[in-house]
Amino acid sequence: MAQLSDDCFAFGGALLGVDEALARIDQRVIPVVGSETITLRAACGRILAENVVAAMNLPPHANSAVDGYAVRYADLASDRETDLPIGGRAAAGHPLGRAISPGEAIRIFTGAPMPEGADTVIMQEDCIVADSRVRLKPGIRKGANRRHAGEDVTLGEMALAAGLRLGPAEIGLASALGYRELQVCRRLRVALLSTGDEVREPGSELPPGAIYDANRFMLAAFLERLGCVVSDFGIRPDREAALLDTLSAASTDHDLIVSSGGVSTGDEDRVKAAVERLGSLYFWRLAIKPGRPVALGHVAGVPLIGLPGNPVAVAVTFAVLGRPLILKLAGAAAHTPHVFPVRAGFAYRKKPGRREYLRARLERESDTMVAHKYPHEGAGILSSIVRSEGLVVLDEATGALNPGAVVDFAPFSEVFA
Ligand code: AMP
Ligand code: MG
Repeated sequence: MAQLSDDCFAFGGALLGVDEALARIDQRVIPVVGSETITLRAACGRILAENVVAAMNLPPHANSAVDGYAVRYADLASDRETDLPIGGRAAAGHPLGRAISPGEAIRIFTGAPMPEGADTVIMQEDCIVADSRVRLKPGIRKGANRRHAGEDVTLGEMALAAGLRLGPAEIGLASALGYRELQVCRRLRVALLSTGDEVREPGSELPPGAIYDANRFMLAAFLERLGCVVSDFGIRPDREAALLDTLSAASTDHDLIVSSGGVSTGDEDRVKAAVERLGSLYFWRLAIKPGRPVALGHVAGVPLIGLPGNPVAVAVTFAVLGRPLILKLAGAAAHTPHVFPVRAGFAYRKKPGRREYLRARLERESDTMVAHKYPHEGAGILSSIVRSEGLVVLDEATGALNPGAVVDFAPFSEVFA
């Protein structure tokens, strides 16, 4: 069951860089074993466990790309109109059933198989039809408007590679190749909990000093979007005994434990101690803002990622570290989310040596996209994520940033998906 080798993440003193942390995750996380066969209709969001090699050509037959007239190019005059008799009809699903004869045109429709011997289709807009004859303009290119068999995917070609996350396009291609079912990686079983004496279940009474749980609901949504099956372990108090019970229960029948809160160095932060009792904790003090405390370790061999408490830090550290960890564990092929160069619409000053993620939205200004930083920067300001569209990523080296500077922008569609 251990998905993390034991020697990893031994890390003490200085802050660990984000790239280094990601490299360690990539090196050390071993995908879970197991796959299942599912119907295409159930495949969206799942990770392909097998290579899909085309057992047929796509399209299976040469066919017309337009409504018009199929001809033999050799029958066309190059310098004047050609007048041909219309000798037959081919529609989608209704092949002509014979080869084209020299000197005839075949009425043809989009998707209809090209009659054997016909190599060119003239669009109906370029034809004049009268008395079962068609007049064709000169200047047509040989092979025009003909789709070749296998021009999309060729028999024997790898159409979809193992590790791909299946979306609508991948499912469409699989069905076009005749697949009814696909073999996908089994879903990760993830145990999820919140920690904190102040944290309460939404809808319950809120005593003075308490807050409703935001992290567990946000994380459950992230995890389910990644295809995980979430077991809800609720909200645990800041008591080591309670955490020990919950973490040991969570370490049976799960592939991963995700917690939030309780990992910084404060006296009330008990997750660290509990994990150290039950397994080992490779405590990361990451050079990242928001979110410096992020714990990665294992409980009885089951990997655990302990995210910070502040909801914005949770979202950012989940996107930056949790998501790649989960995708790797689940069998997905490595894929670095795209960031896009945009212009900063703000001035900013940061501490060099750590990577910062600023919530921002984009606005188009003539031919460039400009990122506008959300004005309220606190790591607890959950509405800032709702009102933003992505993260401006400022690398470790950046110190002062002036308006107009080119910065990396990671859309939520890339890092939250
Ligand atoms: P901690 O890391 O446990 O010290 O928490 C840091 C901050 O995040 C504190 O203000 C907590 O109240 C807040 N917090 C912790 N857990 C949650 C949660 N599940 N939902 C919302 N806020 C939380
Ligand atoms: Mg706490």
